[in-house]
Amino acid sequence: MALYRDLHAAPELSQQEVKTAARMAAEARKAGFEVTEKVGGTGVVAVLRNGPGPTLLIRTDMDGLPVTEETGLPFASTVRGKTPEGVETGIMHACGHDTHMAAWVGTLRNMAAMKDRWNGTLVMIAQPAEENSAGAIAMLKDGLLTRFPKPDYAMAFHDSAALPAGTIGIRSGPTFASVDSVDILVKGIGGHGAYPATTKDPIVLGSRIVTALQTIVAREIDPLDSAVITVGSFQGGTRHNIIPEQALLLLTVRAYTPEVRKQLIDGIARIAKGEAIAAGLPDDMLPVVTVREPFTPPAVSTKPFADRLQALFTTRFGADRVKEVPPTMAGEDFGRFHIADPSIQSVIYWVGGVPQAKWDAAQANGGKGLPSLHSAKWAPDAEKVIGTAAEAMTGAALDILKR
Ligand SMILES: [Zn+2]
Ligand SMILES: [Zn+2]
Repeated sequence: MALYRDLHAAPELSQQEVKTAARMAAEARKAGFEVTEKVGGTGVVAVLRNGPGPTLLIRTDMDGLPVTEETGLPFASTVRGKTPEGVETGIMHACGHDTHMAAWVGTLRNMAAMKDRWNGTLVMIAQPAEENSAGAIAMLKDGLLTRFPKPDYAMAFHDSAALPAGTIGIRSGPTFASVDSVDILVKGIGGHGAYPATTKDPIVLGSRIVTALQTIVAREIDPLDSAVITVGSFQGGTRHNIIPEQALLLLTVRAYTPEVRKQLIDGIARIAKGEAIAAGLPDDMLPVVTVREPFTPPAVSTKPFADRLQALFTTRFGADRVKEVPPTMAGEDFGRFHIADPSIQSVIYWVGGVPQAKWDAAQANGGKGLPSLHSAKWAPDAEKVIGTAAEAMTGAALDILKR
């Protein structure tokens, strides 16, 4: 918990996890692991070889988010920084990656202390930049599967803001959606707010685009398919009486199949262009739509391994604490390790984080009123998340690597 509070108070944005990575590397080294730093940027790979046997990879992510914390916790983050787009912001572990790191350290300490009970190779990785999907692919490109022992199995967990603290949610098959980050640069002709007729107002055009985008999921995608388009940022202008030259929209786009993904991206480009034409923008001033690389593919929990873990967790924690959960529209670049080498059996599961009292109160209210992941108010019952996750990870690792 001391480590967790330290991490929580000092979050770092994606690809800037320098101090966080140094802490993870130091903890792994202290436990007797052979540690390599700066793998794929700030990534850490810690290896413990313990005789012949399978190779198991356990991953934590390390990045915080550009969110100004409002939890009121005594160890709340007061860190501030700038996003790559230049927006001044508070920084917070609003996705709970601090709980992932604390449980990862707990697991590696457990496994080092219990070396006489297992055989094989443990590859513990601390991955940068999960939130912008750049981290897993960067570690793979930097030789994660060639410079280090190649895993037969890979495991990770994510804290859940939709499950009570100390429970586990697991499924086999597609678990997390594909995620694309899309930018729409809306061009206009700026001028005085009092003389709109002399301008082409990018704020009004941007607003029309935002509204029209809602029809893609509502009217163009098959209702039986899953899809999300969310405009998470609308930037434009500096003051009341100036019509700016441009506005910038930042979107997250989610799907489960390549076909739906393509339909969404094509629809966004078509609507942005069409609305600009309707607003009277000339051909050389149409919006610039950029689909950022890399995108996050869907994350799949592979069948025999997921079933094995579900049975193991049910035996260990009891059926009331282990639930089969539906897929989610959240994304996770953990799926990339299995995609990079389909022979790697791969599972990512949820560990519930909602404090029991808040959970009970929300149930009385039809399940409403709980903050989600990425909320400035997300304050998991960290002790239960970390304790449950470290126990689950350790139990699973001992089973996979049993003598
Ligand atoms: Zn997140
Ligand atoms: Zn996350």
